[in-house]
Amino acid sequence: MSYKSDIEIAREANKKPIQEVGDKLGIPGEHLLPYGHDKAKVSQDYINSVQSNENGKLILVTAINPTPAGEGKTTTTVGLGDGLNRIGKKAMICIREASLGPNFGMKGGAAGGGYAQVVPMEDMNLHFTGDFHAITSAHSLLSAMIDNHIYWGNEQEIDVRRVQWRRVVDMNDRALRQINVSLGGVANGFPREGGFDITVASEVMAILCLAKDLKDLEERLGAMIVAYRRDRSPVYCRDIKAEGAMTVLLKDAMQPNLVQTLENNPAFVHGGPFANIAHGCNSVIATTTALKISDYVVTEAGFGADLGAEKFMNIKCRKAGLAPSAVVLVATVRAMKMNGGVAKEDLGQENVDAVKAGCANLGRHIENVKSFGVPVVVAINHFVTDTDAEVEAVKAYVAEHGAEAVLSRHWELGSEGSEDLAKKVVEVVDAGNANFGPIYPDEMPLFEKIETIAKRIYRADEVLADKKIRDQLKLWEEQGYGNLPVCMAKTQYSFSTDPNLRGAPTGHSVPVREVRLSAGAGFVVVVCGEIMTMPGLPRTPAAEKICLNDAGEIEGLF
Ligand code: ADP
Ligand code: MG
Repeated sequence: MSYKSDIEIAREANKKPIQEVGDKLGIPGEHLLPYGHDKAKVSQDYINSVQSNENGKLILVTAINPTPAGEGKTTTTVGLGDGLNRIGKKAMICIREASLGPNFGMKGGAAGGGYAQVVPMEDMNLHFTGDFHAITSAHSLLSAMIDNHIYWGNEQEIDVRRVQWRRVVDMNDRALRQINVSLGGVANGFPREGGFDITVASEVMAILCLAKDLKDLEERLGAMIVAYRRDRSPVYCRDIKAEGAMTVLLKDAMQPNLVQTLENNPAFVHGGPFANIAHGCNSVIATTTALKISDYVVTEAGFGADLGAEKFMNIKCRKAGLAPSAVVLVATVRAMKMNGGVAKEDLGQENVDAVKAGCANLGRHIENVKSFGVPVVVAINHFVTDTDAEVEAVKAYVAEHGAEAVLSRHWELGSEGSEDLAKKVVEVVDAGNANFGPIYPDEMPLFEKIETIAKRIYRADEVLADKKIRDQLKLWEEQGYGNLPVCMAKTQYSFSTDPNLRGAPTGHSVPVREVRLSAGAGFVVVVCGEIMTMPGLPRTPAAEKICLNDAGEIEGLF
């Protein structure tokens, strides 16, 4: 049997005008600011007007450590949202926007897959409502103003060797990673080293996703550290007086984008910070608004649960005062088999023993999520090659580890395939057993926070860090940043910092290579391993195959 590609399915969608989707949520027409017929931003006035509503229930979708086989968190988020609507619940989903750059590298979009997708998927993956362009512009304005400040006399006494603020572009362009700026003579300023990151790695992105409102956004932008003086004292964005104009550029980008699933159910698609040097979740404003206007909100965090769920709980929920009622942990039979030692080429063959062996990774994630006080439902994201015996093996394992696994076939069947999952999730949420709490208090010293995550989530024996790093953390504590949460940046492929260590490793160490302060976003980034903030394109970029066909449709994108 052959299956349609994601883009073929998306093209056949029977989209409703966006106002009809807004009607489902009770958003009056004048409060939807349409971008074409199938996308709209929600007005701030409307968001203000629903603040006294009671909150709905929040459900986080996360996953085991990913394998090249693909786990399907977004696909399951969309499928579960549609499933909840199918069983008569007022539900919506909140997911991230896509970065432009990676679309032209490797195939793979951000809108879900199969019959569990958000549409218009082409727009969602390319330009969308322009939010990322606005972020690029706001970021670039500050970059320009810093060099301009230096040019006109450098009143703030910025040490040009210690400018922290880089430039950004939403493209995978390794040639820009490290560059020299202001070359070419006196009129062009003072030559110095600089470089570009991809837009989603900008602190402006992280701030947009954590800010409560425009006022909070402006304050946080002002608090960003852009450079240091010779005496090592920080120069803030507000010293350069850029935060007001940046907020103006971000005014529309701050409003959540409403779109629909293939089944015409509402979805907020808003924000998209990196999941390594930032927290990897959609915007707080989208999530908190969704909770005010629907009974169940399904959202996703980037990477596996060791990174994504941990940051969702310890950073996003802590900062925004959110409390998830349940976590859906996505697992696939294929990934269990890979964790159990099966090579990628052999994944199509039944191998129950390998599935059983690979379940250790899943088991540890279940325990970890529960340690936040939140109940877990395992969603087995069904692939058409999975056999009954393999599925049963996963279910049996999960049952022995204090949770329940439900097979879900949303990719193949849409909401018809996710009804069971939706019912189970409602049962668990409505039982009201969640008692959420972050796993470390604000006042814990920064290094102990890192140790807490390394030991309790990664199950490492120790955290290794040079005196230089420990001293840096102490200095930040003295400067008043000690209450911030830590944002771990490590490989997504393993609980450890070694991407090849699959399963449930123990006895490992977590070496901290570097720490960075994101003073505006409000976290300390802890870099453990190679972290790329400007990706490159592969030898044969997907862009070579992307084109418009005679009908004006996009070809080659997924
Ligand atoms: P994640 O959010 O975990 O990165 P996605 O949901 O974006 O993963 O899915 C990654 C890719 O895998 C998509 O192209 C999607 O179409 C595909 N995929 C997801 N679930 C299935 C499934 N059950 N069967 C086949 N392909 C799937
Ligand atoms: Mg995803």
